[in-house]
Amino acid sequence: MPSSLPLKQFRSVGGFWGHYQSALASKGLIHQWNQIVETGRLQNFLDVADGKSGTHQGYRFNDSDVYKWLEAAAYSQVLNPNAAVEAAIEQAIQAIIAAQAQDGYLFTLIQLNKPDWKWRNLVHMHEMYCLGHLIEACIALNQLGDSRLMPVALKAVECITNTFGPDKRVGSCGHPEIEVALYRLWQETGQKKYAELADWMIDCRGQRPSPFEEEFNNPSENCIVDLDRCCEWKGGKYYGEYLQDDKPIREQDTIVGHSVRAAYLYSAAQLSAARRKDQNLQSALDQIWANLTEKRMYVTGGIGSTGDGEGFTADYDLPNLNAYAETCAGIALAMWARRSFESNPSTDAIDVLEKVIFNGILSGTSLDTTSYFYDNPLESRGNTERQPWFGCACCPPNLARLIASITDYAIQSDTKTLYIGFPLECEFMLANGLEVSIKTQYPHKGEAEIKVKALKPTRYRLALRIPDWAEEVTTTLPGAQPAEYEEGFAVFDEVWEGERTLAVEFEMEPRILSSHPKVLENLGRVAIQYGPTIYCAESLSESDAPQRINLDLSEDIQLGSARSKGGAPTLEVQALRQSDDDGPLYEYDQEPKIVQTALKLIPYREWNGSGKSYMQVWLRV
Ligand SMILES: [Zn+2]
Repeated sequence: MPSSLPLKQFRSVGGFWGHYQSALASKGLIHQWNQIVETGRLQNFLDVADGKSGTHQGYRFNDSDVYKWLEAAAYSQVLNPNAAVEAAIEQAIQAIIAAQAQDGYLFTLIQLNKPDWKWRNLVHMHEMYCLGHLIEACIALNQLGDSRLMPVALKAVECITNTFGPDKRVGSCGHPEIEVALYRLWQETGQKKYAELADWMIDCRGQRPSPFEEEFNNPSENCIVDLDRCCEWKGGKYYGEYLQDDKPIREQDTIVGHSVRAAYLYSAAQLSAARRKDQNLQSALDQIWANLTEKRMYVTGGIGSTGDGEGFTADYDLPNLNAYAETCAGIALAMWARRSFESNPSTDAIDVLEKVIFNGILSGTSLDTTSYFYDNPLESRGNTERQPWFGCACCPPNLARLIASITDYAIQSDTKTLYIGFPLECEFMLANGLEVSIKTQYPHKGEAEIKVKALKPTRYRLALRIPDWAEEVTTTLPGAQPAEYEEGFAVFDEVWEGERTLAVEFEMEPRILSSHPKVLENLGRVAIQYGPTIYCAESLSESDAPQRINLDLSEDIQLGSARSKGGAPTLEVQALRQSDDDGPLYEYDQEPKIVQTALKLIPYREWNGSGKSYMQVWLRV
């Protein structure tokens, strides 16, 4: 079963991702840390350590932002060390250690404001959700040789198992996350009990009686303050779909409820199905995945189309202007896709992973990684722009940890095979001693050179994903047998000796996408893709808004110059623009005034670079 390479085996990451990673190290992480400090997120830990009470600031789940930031910072320090980030990591570690209670409990809202509410409101409180992010941060630091937080993580799990478990109280967290963290802790420590606890949580979800539903039987006893504001309470009864607790996962076949919760839960369930070789669980996950990716996912890979409950609605309901498509939901989808690939190495999952990473996730951040979208609409009418932070700031540190660990998503290996999911400019060493360096301008260009250096003859397979969007692919490895094709990969089974270079070219042409007619929003419209990148039309002024335009596809779409050195190419397409601004509101028998115009398209992920603008992905033809 393939897995990602430890980050320490990488010597460098450059090119497209190197830009994002170095921006994150030099700007984004410090910017986020300053927000964490200014908004009281760090202070909550310090106040617990000082024995204060009643001073908690912000949302109940704010601890998780500190942990997610810490995880991202730990990854970032490997290839892009920064002294200010190092100092902030130190502050975070000290604060976390000092805030943990004797019994391992750590959740600053309850420690500061509601000590008698501990483990009483699992449906809302996010206690285990936050501990899950704590565990992931501890693992990230541990892998880099700083094990000071590992005892904190292990003690936190002990605190959970003192109360919850097969022979104890049934319960997990309303917001999944602890499950993924427990599988990672099992992988990190080799201790099966952590995976077994996660398996049990996966198996309990959706069973009746539901511990979450039971909390609503006696709301005041369980500290549920305002029933009317609960997403888990609809029409006077429990609405388990919101947190994927309406039926056991093995009986689920449709993606429902809160999108981040769903994709975190199914990422964990995928790890569980693989670990236990559980065919029933796998087949349920396959059905849910198919429903999501074939009927409920945006062309950008964004998921969760409505802000009402931050989740899913119905098949083919994919509004563009009001698309929610939370950045975290895209990240959660990438995580699920990664786990699907690891369980069953085919390119299907990577096609989705690539789509969401290069589009619906990266749209969530500015190029300098210091301003963010929470939701990622596919159309704008000049009323939204990226923000430096949010009251509920789940997305910015989540983006940071994904960018800083992008190697986990692009490159995987097992004892026989190196899998390259998408070309990433980098250098790394494999466990068998092979040294690999990849040179590429991907995703701006489709070429890549993959150099493999062997100090002694070494047999190993190199599997290169053929992207779903590429019509022609050329691979040249002098002295090799022609590649074999396996589950969407071109596989080179070679005895590597000396230095050899595999030259790859994925033919990149602008592709025109249409959508299923049931997506009513997109009728009569197309989207344009170049390589893995979805493009959009954007204008700062209303008079040039893409909403006024019909594409003229009788002429080919041309490749234009990049807007910055080393940036993505633009695309140029002919269009007809409705231009009459002086006429009355309504008019009889008037032909609209149409002007032929050349329209420049830019990558969707880069829209809003100059602030509020008019934008469309799906353009009228
Ligand atoms: Zn978020």
